[in-house]
Amino acid sequence: RGAHRAPYLEGLNPEQREAVETLDGAVLVLAGAGTGKTRVLTTRIAHILSLGRARASEILSVTFTNKAAREMKTRIGAMVGEAVEGMPWLGTFHSIGAKILRRHAELVNLKPDFTILDVDDQIRLLKQLIAAENIDEKRWPARLLANQIDSWKNRGLSPDQVSAGEGATFANGRGRDLYAAYQARLKTLNAADFGDLLLETIRLFRQHPEVLRQYQTRFKYILVDEYQDTNVAQYLWLRLLAQRTSGTAAADLVLRDAALRAAPQDEAREEPASAISAPTPRPEEPAHSAGVSKDVAPLGPPKNICCVGDDDQSIYGWRGAEVDNILRFDHDFPGAKVIRLERNYRSTAHILGAASHLIAHNEGRLGKTLRSEGEAGERVVVSTAWDSEEEARAVGEEIEQLQRQGHRLDEIAILVRASFQMREFEDRFVTLGLPYRVIGGPRFYERAEIRDAMAYLRLVNQPADDLAFERIVNVPKRGLGDAALQNLHDLARARGVPLIEAARAMGTSEAVKPKPRAALRDLVAAFDRWRAQRDTLPHNELAEIVLDESGYTEMWQKDRSADAAGRLENLKELVRSMEEFENLQGFLEHVALVMDTDRGEDHEAVSIMTLHAAKGLEFDTVFLPGWEEGLLPHQRSLDENGRAGLEEERRLAHVGITRARKNARISFVSNRRIHGSWTSSLPSRFLDELPEQHVEVREAKGGFGGYGNAYGSRFDTTAAFGSSYTTPGWRRAQKSRGGFEEDPHEYSQVEPDEPAGRMRDVGASRAPGGGTN
Ligand code: ATP
Ligand code: MG
Repeated sequence: RGAHRAPYLEGLNPEQREAVETLDGAVLVLAGAGTGKTRVLTTRIAHILSLGRARASEILSVTFTNKAAREMKTRIGAMVGEAVEGMPWLGTFHSIGAKILRRHAELVNLKPDFTILDVDDQIRLLKQLIAAENIDEKRWPARLLANQIDSWKNRGLSPDQVSAGEGATFANGRGRDLYAAYQARLKTLNAADFGDLLLETIRLFRQHPEVLRQYQTRFKYILVDEYQDTNVAQYLWLRLLAQRTSGTAAADLVLRDAALRAAPQDEAREEPASAISAPTPRPEEPAHSAGVSKDVAPLGPPKNICCVGDDDQSIYGWRGAEVDNILRFDHDFPGAKVIRLERNYRSTAHILGAASHLIAHNEGRLGKTLRSEGEAGERVVVSTAWDSEEEARAVGEEIEQLQRQGHRLDEIAILVRASFQMREFEDRFVTLGLPYRVIGGPRFYERAEIRDAMAYLRLVNQPADDLAFERIVNVPKRGLGDAALQNLHDLARARGVPLIEAARAMGTSEAVKPKPRAALRDLVAAFDRWRAQRDTLPHNELAEIVLDESGYTEMWQKDRSADAAGRLENLKELVRSMEEFENLQGFLEHVALVMDTDRGEDHEAVSIMTLHAAKGLEFDTVFLPGWEEGLLPHQRSLDENGRAGLEEERRLAHVGITRARKNARISFVSNRRIHGSWTSSLPSRFLDELPEQHVEVREAKGGFGGYGNAYGSRFDTTAAFGSSYTTPGWRRAQKSRGGFEEDPHEYSQVEPDEPAGRMRDVGASRAPGGGTN
């Protein structure tokens, strides 16, 4: 070992190399942004393959997004020299979960072609259940229940594992029963929601040890990126696969962990863009922490598992992610080697300096050292604008200027805290004719016309998909009144058959009025026809036929509203995008899982996305607009989670800055329109925490003279910050922290406060004798 010479190993620093070459046992790479964690994982896979230690199909590697998975595959291919056959088990927790579940669906009462529900379907289903229970949906909204259920699922809890007390929050204690009813209904529909992709797999492993054993044996190597953001269910799933446990022991483990842990959240819909829209509250004090480590004994020798993560980039607490998983690693995998990487290869010294000082204000961290390899570069620019329109205009101008200087648009990103901020930039870029793409955000697949079209396709694929049937039964209008639809539902329920079968019966029944009878008969006949064509026609051609023959395309062609043309374009785009998939099933699976809108991937464009969606990515230039109190840090985080919420917001800000290689440009506005009303905003406290020596405060072009008293005649730090802060701005902040060293390439951050002691070598990277492990 170590003598292996391969081009892909060259250029790695010694610690990275150690992480790549330590193939046996458990390895945890705990290191800051841009230190090459992801690169280590990719290289490690290439190494395993080229040494012949395992085949591609024997490596399980988990990424946080589908995009990351795709990138990793490309890179591995490049390193190994030939196309990697497949890497079938490289993907997100959800995509891998779905894959395992399909193979053994029958064992958990599903069929292999089960539908993956999205949030919208989920909410509609819950609404029905709530109504059936005569609960007032206005008081107890379905969305609230959805969050509650997700948070149970994120913690690995099935209905029978939810304690009575916990079920008490929704509708006076009926949450747990509704959860059970919901799960039962999903089974009837042959459907699973996102949480089930993991939870049901865990259940599968628990109840069928032989299946678990099969995967334990198959996966010779396990790799996990962004480990700091795994939630309890993901963690359990991983641990079942990574440890040699018996089925009972596994069951035990799940139950004990579930009982010991008590942090809620709503899970990885894979869509970070909605971060702001639906966070679930956290209870005051989670009862877990060290508890699990003490009580659940590790079982058997650890597998070859390598996890990489950064506690300072944990930004999914609202979705149930638990940084504590990092702390527990050493216990679960005894003898685990902990490797720290300290060299940042991504950012200039100024950017790294600004980010490091900002994050040093957090108390709950493991602490680490980061050195910049690069040059000092430009300081982080902070500027202000009157309102968000002005802010977008300034950003637009700057991008055009960068473009003129030869910068690639691909290398520019705008990272927002909340998706509503995007619209202003989109509008501006459309005006300027500046190509952009929104990653996450208002997703292509969530547009109404796309969802309708998808419902048709889902039904072609899977007749029992009642939610899809409901969506399109009268779209376009087929003259089915409420009474007819009610009858349809009643009949389906009475006979215990899918809606489409009830429709078939009604389509030939004399008891039904001629018009609805004919409508249902024709619809059912059309689906029979399409389904028969499924095996003979390419799926994208079939899709076109379905949209035409159903009258759906025509409906939009006749529509006179302003957006009809755009919708027709979207439908075209949908059909076109299907070409990339082998079959309808594969396409539907993709849509259910996908998080990015991949439109326009072929041309150069500025990326717009939320901070949550930006994890793991890097760009030359990063714009960070909206650094205002209430937005970043977001008010909801502060209200719901207090200090912990503030720290998570700070980590988000830190993730934002560390995405930049060369330029980071922060801005804030003094007036913002939130939910239709104007509010004057204060600059974010995080601005105050940026060290002066790494920051350049830039005056807005043309000055701010026209804006009256808000800033005085022109913007400067005193005016802008002094007006809202009685403290003398960021000067004070940086001085009081201490620990800053003169050399801009060296930042020793605050020492860990408490958690470090729980894990071998964590936090000891700079201490004598530490760090090498
Ligand atoms: P994050 O925490 O943001 O996910 P990371 O630790 O995963 O960051 P990578 O994305 O793997 O970091 O690496 C950051 C950048 O540094 C990438 O462009 C990568 O190619 C580069 N890099 C990593 N290691 C080296 C190295 N040894 N030599 C040169 N460049 C490197
Ligand atoms: Mg990474």
